Amino acid sequence: MRIVLASANKGKIEEFKKLLPNYEVIAYSDILGKFDIPETGTSFKENAIIKASEINRRLKEQNEKHFIVISDDSGISLPILNGAPGVYSARYSGINASDKSNNEKLISELNRLNLEKSEAFYTACITIIYKDFVYTVHGFMHGMAINQEKGTNGFGYDPLFIPKGFDKTLGELDFEVKQEFSHRNRALKLAMKVLEVIL
Ligand code: IMP
Repeated sequence: MRIVLASANKGKIEEFKKLLPNYEVIAYSDILGKFDIPETGTSFKENAIIKASEINRRLKEQNEKHFIVISDDSGISLPILNGAPGVYSARYSGINASDKSNNEKLISELNRLNLEKSEAFYTACITIIYKDFVYTVHGFMHGMAINQEKGTNGFGYDPLFIPKGFDKTLGELDFEVKQEFSHRNRALKLAMKVLEVIL
């Protein structure tokens, strides 16, 4: 059984390969070539389903058989900002957003509200499509977003995020520590359980 990932991100592909040693895990682009799928959903779940459905549709169009499609979508949400950045996490500061400009925007939003920190959480949604049936699971990591960058580990909003139970940001904590309770890993563990049941 082939597992086709709706992502061309090498890190994510390696992560799935390690978790699924008994399966052939490949990037969608290896079969279909690279293309953009507009993420027009208003939730992580909608966006993950949009990505997986489009890959599923194109694979069937090419008469591919015996495959599972897996996609993911993730981001950070702050209740004080009505859930922003949310599904716009990657492009929070505009079309040409970078991790740096996104962090600057989040810091300026906290400063605008005179807050040194505020409750925040990461979400990861993983969608699995097998024989046209759609399964979704979520993983979460709760904590605080602060108004200054600390540390250089991780990526994205990690230098601004202090996980619950810690006094350091993910930028300061080791990757292995984050891996233990990250939103993505929690979602992946649930996704593995779904695969065990349906395959
Ligand atoms: P994607 O799901 O890989 O497209 O990630 C969406 C965006 O959410 C990223 O570009 C980051 O800005 C943010 N994000 C998601 N997961 C993390 C994380 O583990 N650390 C920091 N930022 C993250």
